[in-house]
Amino acid sequence: MKKYNREVGSRFHINMEGALTARDRVGVQDFVLLDSYTSEISFLDNLRKRFRENLIYTYIGTLLVSVNPYKELDIYTHKKKELYQGVNFFELPPHIYAIADNAYRVMCTEYTNHFILISGESGAGKTEASKKILEFYAKTCQTTEQLQVVRDRLLLSNPVLEAFGNAKTLRNDNSSRFGKYMDIQFSYTGAPVGGHILSYLLEKSRVAHQNHGERNFHIFYQLLEGGEEELLRWLGLDRNPLQYHYLIQGECAKVSSINDKSGWKTVRKALSVIDFTDNDIDDLLGVIASVLHLGNIQFNPDSQGHANITVDKEIRWISKLLGVHVLVLQEGLTHKKIEAKADEVLSPLSVEQAFCARDALAKAIYGRTFTWLVNKINESLANQFCINYCNEKLQQLLIELTLKSEQEEYEAEGIQWEPIQYFNNKIICDLVEQKYKGIISILDEECLRPGEATDLTFLDRLEEKVGAHPHFLTHKLADQKTRKTMCRGDFRLLHYAGEVTYNVVGFLDKNNDLLYRNLKEVMCDSTNFIVKNCFTSNELDTKKRPETVATQFRYSLMGLIDILMSKVPSYVRCIKPNDAKQPGRFDDMLVRHQVKYLGLMEHLRVRRAGFAYRRKFDAFLKRYKLLCPDTWPNWHGPASEGVERLVKYIGYKQEEYKMGRTKIFIRFPKTLFATEDAYQA
Ligand code: ATP
Ligand code: MG
Repeated sequence: MKKYNREVGSRFHINMEGALTARDRVGVQDFVLLDSYTSEISFLDNLRKRFRENLIYTYIGTLLVSVNPYKELDIYTHKKKELYQGVNFFELPPHIYAIADNAYRVMCTEYTNHFILISGESGAGKTEASKKILEFYAKTCQTTEQLQVVRDRLLLSNPVLEAFGNAKTLRNDNSSRFGKYMDIQFSYTGAPVGGHILSYLLEKSRVAHQNHGERNFHIFYQLLEGGEEELLRWLGLDRNPLQYHYLIQGECAKVSSINDKSGWKTVRKALSVIDFTDNDIDDLLGVIASVLHLGNIQFNPDSQGHANITVDKEIRWISKLLGVHVLVLQEGLTHKKIEAKADEVLSPLSVEQAFCARDALAKAIYGRTFTWLVNKINESLANQFCINYCNEKLQQLLIELTLKSEQEEYEAEGIQWEPIQYFNNKIICDLVEQKYKGIISILDEECLRPGEATDLTFLDRLEEKVGAHPHFLTHKLADQKTRKTMCRGDFRLLHYAGEVTYNVVGFLDKNNDLLYRNLKEVMCDSTNFIVKNCFTSNELDTKKRPETVATQFRYSLMGLIDILMSKVPSYVRCIKPNDAKQPGRFDDMLVRHQVKYLGLMEHLRVRRAGFAYRRKFDAFLKRYKLLCPDTWPNWHGPASEGVERLVKYIGYKQEEYKMGRTKIFIRFPKTLFATEDAYQA
């Protein structure tokens, strides 16, 4: 690993001064340097100035703020990657590479586990940021020929996951519709030896339904647009996406900004490199095609009003691709099996129920195949670091965690400290996730009453149970003025920095993963390897009700927080400068909202009031003891006293540091840099 450059100190100063003189034009590269650090206006001014100069990155201490440029910038070259390798944080302009490099270096020197949390709203640039980090490691970490395989797979897993897990939404043409947490494991010597991906709750409802202006997952369109004639014939597919019910509900199957053909090429190639055999790929595409065929199945009522499949073309294709029996599948889609005491009774479905069963099957097959895909990629990466995509809620939780942990540490160390007010979002988290009384529980309860409960009865229950909560509002509960801004099925949550209005339509449906038992049985007998793998007979044995979507989500969030609590964090906060996805546009209102929402002002206040660096006395002493004759070669007294003598000897001023109970706290980065320089000299 590169050692600190001896010029670091001087370059640091030059750079800082450069920043100061050109300040009016390009702003400051670290918000901590702002004169009026409590002013939201100067914060925005600084961000805007830098954005105009294509300086999309700015620090708040060690946190990186990134504004989506919506255009290609010349800052991700191989040269830049080399430049940022092994250099001190503040000597170069802020960059995502500096964050990546810093986490890596601290990991190597202190043998600690790290994670980089990337947050921001949809379209803010999280996915792009994570790719830049991966690319940085891929280029800069030492590898052997054998490890290059791991590296390539890690890089290529991205386009595959994006094809199956991303979709065009109104806010982002390439929106990630699943949460992702990626670990990269480094060896003792700092080489990447493996990786692991955890995926969180794919938005399965998108398979069967998309809002206006949105699309289904990319892979469907890619396959139709890019798949060879012969392949499509084998899958029984028509090249025209407009032929497929599941692809046209957003009325934008074709979008000029998306190149599905080249997307297909990339995915197809990546699949081969990450160890998918031809059989795997055939099975995988068989599933994708089956989902499209499923969506086109129509049901009509017979004389008794029971669902009947009139055209069996689709059924035949699915039967061929999934290796299930035509009649069994047909029966499965039009009947449900009920267990009454020891008997099993097949009862016919109504047309409406049959459409639901069909969609549930499509969602289940796709969702499980996605999980299979992630597992398969994991096998090929077999072994772990972390990059994280989290949803906005998790990010809120973590805002609290950082601020709280920072303040708690000062308190524990007995450092005098003026507490900073921060918003505690527990009240809102509780409203959502509390047992029995929270929105998720209420939703789950309604889902347990199929046939009786509707989206509107869910709304009634909410009003009944949480109607009095100060952060909750519905159309009915609102005062007259507010009511004008809401529709009948709406409920509104007053989140930290703004209100979000939700409409209950589709809530029950999205939460319900319910797949009738007999359809599961059909899938268990599939000869398609993937489907067979995804539906095992174990789940038929359990009488237990499967967890609903929202409950699963709550659990995975809890699990994730456990993982994160055991690691050292770095933060990247992504900001979306405008809603039009256009370069050069900086919408003050929109950015301001995100600055607020991301808790950036609080973070800055903590940083300004606080200390940039802290280190255990003995670690500090061990590294720098050679700088002081009293502590060199060995100090025999208490470490704290040794540190005190050491820093006095090298000239720390009183305002530059504080002594805690077990750690020294250093206020400014430059103080530490100077010490490090002296050490290197
Ligand atoms: P979602 O939550 O919907 O997944 P996201 O935060 O992951 O959103 P991205 O997909 O990373 O958002 O970014 C959206 C688009 O913005 C990208 O497709 C790209 O066009 C542009 N973009 C983001 N970051 C950068 C960047 N650093 N340089 C150039 N363009 C960028
Ligand atoms: Mg994304």
